[in-house]
Amino acid sequence: MGVSQMARRPPRDIDMLEPRLLSVNQVTTRERWSLEQAIDGYARLGIAGIGTWSESVRDLGLATAGRRIRDAGLAVTGHLVGGLLTDRDPAARRARIDDNRRVIEEAAELGARCVVTIAGGLPVGERDLVGARARALDGLAELLPVARAAGVTLGLEPLHPMICAARSVLPTLELANDWYEALATDGGDGLGIVVDVYAVWWDPNLASEIARASGRICAFHLSDWLAETTDLRLDRGMMGDGVIDIPGIRRMVEDAGYDGMREVEIFSARDWWRRDPEEVIATIKERYRTAV
Ligand code: ZN
Repeated sequence: MGVSQMARRPPRDIDMLEPRLLSVNQVTTRERWSLEQAIDGYARLGIAGIGTWSESVRDLGLATAGRRIRDAGLAVTGHLVGGLLTDRDPAARRARIDDNRRVIEEAAELGARCVVTIAGGLPVGERDLVGARARALDGLAELLPVARAAGVTLGLEPLHPMICAARSVLPTLELANDWYEALATDGGDGLGIVVDVYAVWWDPNLASEIARASGRICAFHLSDWLAETTDLRLDRGMMGDGVIDIPGIRRMVEDAGYDGMREVEIFSARDWWRRDPEEVIATIKERYRTAV
């Protein structure tokens, strides 16, 4: 960024980050708080939104979960997990599509901003990455009309390439934008892109691909990349403890027109999942002011 551009941007007033835009994904406290406890706890501690997981919502009961979340005054910034559409086996593939239909229904009932939709990894024993990507895109094309009919947005979330085999053959925002454009031939209704700083921070094309996603971003996920990370999926850091320029990425996302909530989503088996959720939420609120 040139000096003249930097000069245009006033120093950030930390109070500009409004508490009403802070959401927490329930996975962040999942070892210590059930969904019910998370709903009550987040609302009590001043969090404005929640990201929900299908498994927990089904355990509690969809109608009950929806009612409790509404009564608590929480927005649902995302519902998981959509997608996982890379299976080659027809029966497995059909089961995944059916599960996605159910996830979409849940998202509609919960009033979720989007279904967080991940591609799925390479099926066990396969090396055909091109084929896996084609199947994921086909599955999304089949689900898009379902989402539209339900008034739900499928949020395509690229994940970090290190989990390409295990979770997501969609590893970059560039490919997410390509898929968005391939799917949205009759408009982007029912389709969005999720920007998760943990997944995309390393990307040399980040600025240009976030700009390209202008008007498409339906969710913004926060955590941090620990310099000495110890696990491929479950060692995310608290904002400010790692190496990601979170305020920089937040500004890119806002410049691309995103004015929605910021959802903290920390998978941390060795650290944050073990702590008292009250402490976790207090730390999130503090870091939201100082590191986002
Ligand atoms: Zn995420």
